Amino acid sequence: MDESRKPREEASPSMGPLARLPLFFSLDGKRAVVAGGSAAASWKAELLSAAGASVDVYAGDPCRELLALAQNSPRGPIVVHRRIWTDADLKQAAIAIGAFEDDASAADFTAAARAAGALVNVVDKPAHCDFAFGSIVNRSPLVIGVSTDGAAPIFAQAVRAKLEAFLPRGFANWAAAAARWRESIKTSGLPFSGRRKVWQLFTDHAVKHPDDTPRAADLECFLAEVRGLGAAVENGSVTLVGAGPGDPELLTLRAVRALQSADVILFDDLVSREVLDFARREAKKMLVGKTGYGPSCRQDDINALMVNLAKSGKRVVRLKGGDPLIFGRAGEELAACKTAGIAVEIVPGITAAQGAASALGMPLTDRAQARRLQYVAGHGSSGALPADFDWRSLADPSTTTAIYMPTRTLAALVARAIELGLDPATPSVAVARATQPNQQIIAGPIARLPIMLERLAPAGPVLVMLGKVFSPSAENADTTATALSAIGYDL
Ligand code: SAH
Repeated sequence: MDESRKPREEASPSMGPLARLPLFFSLDGKRAVVAGGSAAASWKAELLSAAGASVDVYAGDPCRELLALAQNSPRGPIVVHRRIWTDADLKQAAIAIGAFEDDASAADFTAAARAAGALVNVVDKPAHCDFAFGSIVNRSPLVIGVSTDGAAPIFAQAVRAKLEAFLPRGFANWAAAAARWRESIKTSGLPFSGRRKVWQLFTDHAVKHPDDTPRAADLECFLAEVRGLGAAVENGSVTLVGAGPGDPELLTLRAVRALQSADVILFDDLVSREVLDFARREAKKMLVGKTGYGPSCRQDDINALMVNLAKSGKRVVRLKGGDPLIFGRAGEELAACKTAGIAVEIVPGITAAQGAASALGMPLTDRAQARRLQYVAGHGSSGALPADFDWRSLADPSTTTAIYMPTRTLAALVARAIELGLDPATPSVAVARATQPNQQIIAGPIARLPIMLERLAPAGPVLVMLGKVFSPSAENADTTATALSAIGYDL
């Protein structure tokens, strides 16, 4: 096997054009000016007060909402002055909002506000604005703003509604607890790596239990856990994550979470781009390719890289196609971590056989016809047909067999299996790139499958499965018959 490849870092895509720069403006105790007495002016005054500003509203004819709001402001004080604004009113204002019907008034106000050094926005007049207000998801102190650069405010509202539904309300409590606990963590005596670990524990807990009320005892727990780690706190971690057969919708929630908190992702060729898109932008992504066809990285190099990254404090995700524990050399990677004293977590994935079976709409087991399901590898560590194959189990008519890595040895494997008792008419399928948009399926009796597969010569991974469950005439499997006739079972 050609093991000449070296792990290679994927360049992160550079930042695309950004329509607006989101900034989170601190207004606490600052002066804000609102000009106009309409309901729109009132809503802006409320927003500015909620953000802690001290708000002066200038309105010859203030509406009822505005007057009521001044009596009951959400946070910073709101004072309504019953007159039109003047240049002098804008002095020392950090921010100025106007609500005017006509463009001339808007232009006057914008010029005066800018001259006074204030950032300005005129409601519904983008030409007179230095900035726009986004749609807000408020989990203060956690705040999310959504902008479409004025393209579609209603769309932005819909995005906001989705985020509202998605982000637990309790995040506000945890973000507030973080603000309260910052100082104690800083002065806890823990080194930088220890404090970072406390924040990781805090975050994992908040994400898992958003609706619990944060208590001082929680903080004590995080601190005690990190103190208990002693020197091991310098270590990062390794998570073996199953990426599934390709369709990113088949990732588990836990896999997505692991991808989003990883510092470094070591991934195989089998892992699809769409899956990698779930990783944090800043995460370093390294292809440690193993295709079984072209050149591969040596397993020892992968183990060493993984362990060294974790030892330097990184959260490493080892991302593997399908399930990490099935034909993924996970045993060697787990052993390397254990020897190095690195904590390992395993996140299972949908294996190729499950992905392929669901794509076919066929069961892998059947009470009458397939009481056993076995996964076998088409080649051993030398790349040749394994010498110690259990041919009897392959010939067993009540078994479904999934052959992983079948391509190079299929002809020899099938010929030998038939010699040793496998019925040449056993129904079989080959699925290439299962669950991916360019998935290909061929089906026929096992004796013919090697030649059919050779003719098809699909690119990408292929899985061969055989057994009565793939019979086009199976009595109890209408879905089987439909699926096989749809794909043109080759008899
Ligand atoms: N851990 C993986 C298997 C890795 S071994 C899993 O659980 O699926 C690599 C082999 O898996 C490939 O040679 C191929 O036989 C199979 N395989 C992986 N992904 C596949 C896919 N999307 N379609 C078909 N076969 C796939």
